Amino acid sequence: MNHPIKPSASHYKRDTFLPFSPPDISEQEIEAVVDTLRSSWITTGPKTKDFEGKFSAYVESPGGLALNSCTAGLHLALATINIGPGDEVITTPMTFCSSVNVIEHVGATPILVDVLPDTLTIDPDQVAVAITPRTKAILPVHYAGHPCEMDALQKLAEEHGLAIIEDAAHALPAKYKGKMIGGLNNLTAFSFYATKNLTTAEGGMLTGDPELLTRARMLSLHGMSRDAWNRYSANGSWYYEVVSPGFKYNMTDIQAALGLVQLQRINEMQAHRRHVVTQYTDAFGNMPELQVPIEKPEVEHAWHLYVLRLNLDRLSIDRGQFITELKERNIGSSVHFIPVHMHPYYSDKYGWQPEDFPIAYHEFQRVVSLPLNSTLSDEDIESVIAAVTDIVETFRL
Ligand SMILES: *Cc1c(COP(=O)(O)O)cnc(C)c1O
Repeated sequence: MNHPIKPSASHYKRDTFLPFSPPDISEQEIEAVVDTLRSSWITTGPKTKDFEGKFSAYVESPGGLALNSCTAGLHLALATINIGPGDEVITTPMTFCSSVNVIEHVGATPILVDVLPDTLTIDPDQVAVAITPRTKAILPVHYAGHPCEMDALQKLAEEHGLAIIEDAAHALPAKYKGKMIGGLNNLTAFSFYATKNLTTAEGGMLTGDPELLTRARMLSLHGMSRDAWNRYSANGSWYYEVVSPGFKYNMTDIQAALGLVQLQRINEMQAHRRHVVTQYTDAFGNMPELQVPIEKPEVEHAWHLYVLRLNLDRLSIDRGQFITELKERNIGSSVHFIPVHMHPYYSDKYGWQPEDFPIAYHEFQRVVSLPLNSTLSDEDIESVIAAVTDIVETFRL
């Protein structure tokens, strides 16, 4: 047990700091945004409509609703299908807090179940056990960009009359058994946050059944029966009716202009992500101190995150120190995620203990996300590999 921690004798260090996830913005995006600013319409309007059409076609969904965040999309999805007090929604602890916060926002009860050890996505067998007469929906998260076991989840949903709301914040573009995530007939929320595979700085898209999206659209803009574009365009009317106390979740045309260019570049950016992943996995796949992420044969991974897992029994340092060592070598990294049940609001309210979801809890302690984005040069990739290799060689037992 008592392994002396060697001093951090850094054999390798990058010259400049490599940030974890800078946005990939070209001159094209800058021009598109400036053009929009020079036009007469800057908020929700023709570019937002265009982006909704092109994005939903890309993810093979019959409809899309552009929003100011993925969190808004998840919240609207729950509100649209009338989930509220007394209802239970089953989701995963291995996610960003917003997937669960929105369940609280509608007054429903989040029911967490543990994840599968290989992909860290929600375990359908545990979902089955957690279903009660109060269960209304399952909210799976395509963790890191690896699609969840959708067939098993869909089967449970059909058997028990549940809705599925997909958190696809990481899953653009991803495929499950040949079908795009977004095209599986569930309300599905994407994120265009600054670090995501496609960014509009802040933004999101809800895809799914057009009828449900019509209601979500009304709720996304104050619960008004018409949106501002229709009201103020030449043939629009001044008249509107508030039919529900809605929210203010609409996307602007400035964001949509950015998104339209990013969408044109997504396949090329994605190919670059795959290139990075291949380099990392070639370098780390054979190191017994490390566990590399997998892509199951029936899916196409979106590779939003490259989540390396440390085999802590083979290292003299913990994950925290590993991140410090990366930083000392000028490499940015991150942790996805602090499991939901370990945040004080949730552990206090529901009495959750760390070990209640043992896989999420134990894997959390050994995950580290390496830089993975389309701005990485081959030298950047080599520097990450050199730093990780150096740390492993310095601290292996
Ligand atoms: C980023 C993220 C969100 C929230 O996205 P926003 O667009 O910032 O609201 C939700 N879920 C997961 C898993 C995320 O990583």
